[in-house]
Amino acid sequence: MEEKFDCIIVGGGIAGLSAAMTLARANARFLLIERGEFCGAKNVSGGVLWGSDLARLVPEYWKEGQGFERFVAHRRLTFMDRQSAFSVDFKSDHFSETPYTGVTVLRAVFDAWLAGKVQEAIDASEHPDESFIATDILVEEVIQEEGRVTGIRAGDEVFHANCVIIAEGVNNLLTRQIGLEKAYVPGDHVAVGVKEVLRLDEARLADRFQLSGRSGLTNEFVGACSDGVEGGGFLYTNRDTISLGLVLGMNDLRDKGKTPYDVLNGFKAHPVVADMIRDAETVEYSAHVVSTGDIKGMPSEIFADGVMIAGEAAHLLLNAGKAIQGMDYAMRSGILAAETAIEAKQSQDFSASMLGNYRKALENSYVLQDMRSFQDAVHLLHRQEMFSTVPDLICDFGRQFFTVDCNPTPKASAMMRAAIKRHASYWDLVKLGLKGAKAL
Ligand SMILES: Cc1cc2nc3c(=O)[nH]c(=O)nc-3n(C[C@H](O)[C@H](O)[C@H](O)COP(=O)(O)OP(=O)(O)OC[C@H]3O[C@@H](n4cnc5c(N)ncnc54)[C@H](O)[C@@H]3O)c2cc1C
Repeated sequence: MEEKFDCIIVGGGIAGLSAAMTLARANARFLLIERGEFCGAKNVSGGVLWGSDLARLVPEYWKEGQGFERFVAHRRLTFMDRQSAFSVDFKSDHFSETPYTGVTVLRAVFDAWLAGKVQEAIDASEHPDESFIATDILVEEVIQEEGRVTGIRAGDEVFHANCVIIAEGVNNLLTRQIGLEKAYVPGDHVAVGVKEVLRLDEARLADRFQLSGRSGLTNEFVGACSDGVEGGGFLYTNRDTISLGLVLGMNDLRDKGKTPYDVLNGFKAHPVVADMIRDAETVEYSAHVVSTGDIKGMPSEIFADGVMIAGEAAHLLLNAGKAIQGMDYAMRSGILAAETAIEAKQSQDFSASMLGNYRKALENSYVLQDMRSFQDAVHLLHRQEMFSTVPDLICDFGRQFFTVDCNPTPKASAMMRAAIKRHASYWDLVKLGLKGAKAL
């Protein structure tokens, strides 16, 4: 029997599940198709889910305490050279208030939990037998008839819908298939993320990172962690594991002839990091492509007749130095695409002009506003000085400033001048500082 759904969602990651939850609550009939054995089976994030949209989808999720690992109460940004680390550290009780502004997640757990919540919303909807989450199925083709998207094909099966939300993630083959993005994606629009999950007894982990209850730490790193390759590192605490990884520029890795796992091993061996992960056992290793957040990497358009593109399939991501925001962007864009689909259903108009409301909503949201505002910061972060000169200089200053010996102590300004002289020219640094101040 051929079904015609209100909407088909391709991809059961964060964008797809957020769209599904929004549709289920509005009593729409939809089909979500995920290629993994279960939602989350194929997904990788650092990962901190920032912002409070999760509380919109699953109100008071923290009471049940499932799905997420820890809430972010303590943040740290570390500049490192080969021996030292100089950190900016911020901890606040404000972060303990709900809704939390960030939670650490392991995607295999989180996505599967969110899919369970979507199923509960389907069961409570007016059409519990007419919406489905189907896993272990690869969508191979988006079907177009007379210039408009009308459904999808998976193997020999064809399903039709009034509209399709493509939430297939960064490897957006279907988005390219329907011509919204060029087949060739330039290497500087994507990076490679590598990550290890390391197990440590929960009580030891809490002691080591000074955590209490479900509070957690996020630590971003720049400098020697990436061994001269464009990029940065992260360490996030989960309940009884640590997520440790790097995001590295694809072109720069190739140009410098380095492999992601060698750079990751070097990061793990850094004296400061080695202390943080001592006795922790690697239980998972993963790698995934990730967008760099360059707005020029976005598809030529994120909607057309009968179709909308959500999440990282549309290259929605921001990494301006203080956090990677891909999951919260995926969540908000999935919600907005589904809200547009509901609006379209009410007016029985699934044309590009109606679905263009999705683009408008995204432009009015923090997602595209922040991506536009912080493009200079995204580009600045890719400059060589940001992952070599600046961290080296900061650590050099730190070493002088925090050393107490039995010699006359120079003033901090003299220490800074000496550090600058060793690593950069004043003029270059002033230019960089001005650019940084403007970008942030
Ligand atoms: C190492 C690393 C660290 C990161 N850290 C963070 C972080 O700390 N915070 C943050 O916010 N973001 C982080 N990100 C980015 C974040 O993971 C992504 O932006 C986010 O997962 C995008 O969500 P999505 O739903 O758009 O895509 P995805 O999560 O990739 O989901 C896409 C889904 O579609 C499915 N799919 C794809 N094609 C098909 C098909 N043809 N048929 C059926 N199913 C299909 C996939 O199996 C997958 O489940 C990180 C990424 C990496 C790689």
